[in-house]
Amino acid sequence: MKKIPLHWKIIIGMILGVLFGFIMSSFNEVGKQFISDWIKPFGTIFINALKLIAIPLILASLIKGISDLKDISKLSKMGGVTITTYIITTVIAVSIGLAIVNVIKPGDSISEETRTELLSAYEDDADEKREVAKVAKNSGPLQPIIDIVPSNIINAATDNKNMLQIIFFSILFGISMILIPEKKSKPLKEFFDSLNEVILKIIDIIMNFAPYGVFALLATLIVEAPKWDLLKSLLLYSITLIIGLLLLILVYIIIVRLLLNKSPNFFIKGILPAQLVAFSTSSSAATLPVTMDRVHNNLNVKKEVSSFVLPIGATINMDGTAVYQAIAAVFIAQTFGLDLSLTAQLGIIVTATLASIGAAAVPSAGIIVLVIVLAQAGIPEAGLALIFAVDRPLDMCRTVVNITGDATVSMLVDKIVSKK
Ligand code: ASP
Repeated sequence: MKKIPLHWKIIIGMILGVLFGFIMSSFNEVGKQFISDWIKPFGTIFINALKLIAIPLILASLIKGISDLKDISKLSKMGGVTITTYIITTVIAVSIGLAIVNVIKPGDSISEETRTELLSAYEDDADEKREVAKVAKNSGPLQPIIDIVPSNIINAATDNKNMLQIIFFSILFGISMILIPEKKSKPLKEFFDSLNEVILKIIDIIMNFAPYGVFALLATLIVEAPKWDLLKSLLLYSITLIIGLLLLILVYIIIVRLLLNKSPNFFIKGILPAQLVAFSTSSSAATLPVTMDRVHNNLNVKKEVSSFVLPIGATINMDGTAVYQAIAAVFIAQTFGLDLSLTAQLGIIVTATLASIGAAAVPSAGIIVLVIVLAQAGIPEAGLALIFAVDRPLDMCRTVVNITGDATVSMLVDKIVSKK
């Protein structure tokens, strides 16, 4: 029998998960309980397995990738190109978001009554996110840079949120391996090469479980979703965001076609399994192992590039989140009847870009940093409660775009640094 490709298996798992979720929802509490006792745990196990491998993967592949370079100047060139391209794509993303939300004006369709209903239904959830954001807001301007340098590597490795710290350590380690005589670095190099191979094998094994994992995640999502009438009132906002995200995917496809001379089909087919995992897990960090595997093996990006560009991208390049920040902020302003001036909207470009860089690569990170964008633009923070009901499904969509942006930039960087 012909083997079914992995992405089809994952798609089938997703569809069956959604159907199963709906069937179980019709049994009300009993169905909900059944999913939470017997199905949800498999989704959690799948996400845990992916997260489990994230830190060892970054360590092994980044150290291997950098020590393979043999030349520091190549690394600094790659670093410069990567960061510049990431910032450019993010600014494009925010601008697309602002343009669309100003044309469609989804906030104008929200009635006073719906607004009050949403605000009271999600007030507590919004407060919780605001608390988390407050901690970030109260620290000094250079705090994000301080946070990159860990004071203890073992501590840093115990929390996946510290991915940038692990990246910092791995880069330092890789550079030092280049700087010492080759004879001395050889055993370490062989060690990391071999560790890297083992980890890639583990990812293969975990991915065989992906169709079941996404089944469980989506079935759980369906039974835990808020009531339809609340979701309905936010339909236009959701559609606006989805249009923005699709436009951004189109921008990536154009980049791939025009600048890289690769067919859209090649690109989408190559990255699709990672997109499906991003959609199901809502986390770029959890998806990173799959993204790295696909970008190297299917999009043919050199290992030394993908292992450098992708872990950094997972944490700092979030184009989907950036589009979302712009659309959500202006939507909330429109709902409250606020007219944002051009200066305020330009301010959103700056804060949304920074906020998307600062957002962690985990579910709901986007809505936390949105507080900062709202505060800067003078939009009521209570407005967070307005968009809560649909945040999870939209988080899933923006995470897909986040990892697709990372993949596009790594292909670009690969081309630029290969050209001498
Ligand atoms: N969940 C997104 C990610 O991991 C971040 C966000 O909430 O926008 O990429």
